[in-house]
Amino acid sequence: MKSLVLEKQDELSLRDFPIERQEETLGPRDVRIKLHTVGICGSDVHYYTHGRIGPFVVNEPMILGHEASGTVIETGAEVASLKVGDRVCMEPGIPDPNSRATRLGMYNVDPAVRFWATPPVHGILRPTCVHPEAFTFKLPDSVSFAEAAMVEPLAVGVHAATKAMIKPGDIAVVMGAGPIGLVTALSALAGGCARVYVTDLAEKKLQIAESLSPAITGVDAAKESIVEKIKADTDGWGCDVVFEATGSPKAAAQVFEPLAPGGCVVMIGGQPDPISYDAGAAMIREARVENIFRYAHVFPRCVAMLASGAIDVKPLITRTFSFDESVRAFEIAASAPPADVKMQIELPQ
Ligand SMILES: [Zn+2]
Repeated sequence: MKSLVLEKQDELSLRDFPIERQEETLGPRDVRIKLHTVGICGSDVHYYTHGRIGPFVVNEPMILGHEASGTVIETGAEVASLKVGDRVCMEPGIPDPNSRATRLGMYNVDPAVRFWATPPVHGILRPTCVHPEAFTFKLPDSVSFAEAAMVEPLAVGVHAATKAMIKPGDIAVVMGAGPIGLVTALSALAGGCARVYVTDLAEKKLQIAESLSPAITGVDAAKESIVEKIKADTDGWGCDVVFEATGSPKAAAQVFEPLAPGGCVVMIGGQPDPISYDAGAAMIREARVENIFRYAHVFPRCVAMLASGAIDVKPLITRTFSFDESVRAFEIAASAPPADVKMQIELPQ
């Protein structure tokens, strides 16, 4: 089937691609889905521009894409919760249901998890896919396909906010105004934060962050110290939660500075190499540090919040391309235009 294929680093093509029979065989608890909208993720772009992410190396052609929504077109014999015609979004990581991690409820850290567009597993920038019913979520009419394709990145923010154990009225700092930083800010507000400060070096991204909610304050890290700003706004106490969403070792080295005593730091941004960590600053605050890897058990919550309006991701979707334009879409995404947050690709219906 016609797919967006990463042939190797720096080389994409839209071409017919033979998917192995195993991936296209409908099991009794699987559904077949006609893809509608697929978001371009930073990880997809990173595989395109670098050919690898940490230990995951693109050694043979791989279909990209993992942020997706679509329509059920076929159901396996034992599928009970979905029917043909249902609009859905899909959680891209499929764990081994019998693994120890899955049985403990931490299926996202199952070492055997098969995650779309993570070598050697193919992604879903293609007309159809087969997916387990258990990781396919029905959409209410009020949630569009474009919003539904935002559930995957939003799930990262909701998982981070959940791990932070936010209490109503908390003050949070989100370091980084990329797509994940912004969905984290929205999740922190939905979780009850009174105010969320978002730091970045790109002015345009801070403007986008502030446009999302009057409770979001953008801080240009090049011009203003977030530590001074937080101290000034909290009578010297500090913020309750810091979310590190830059993946920059320099930013990560400073996570404890704005934090109040007893506060929590959530590490979201990936760090391929060891980074410096201010253990003394963490100790004198009795800081709690949480790490997240993707998400677990949050897709239904994300869909529910989009449906109710508790979270609005529409302003984050800044450009939409047709499937035929997808190579160009990736070229544009790789150039990281400052005014764009999330670019999406729509498949022909
Ligand atoms: Zn993603």
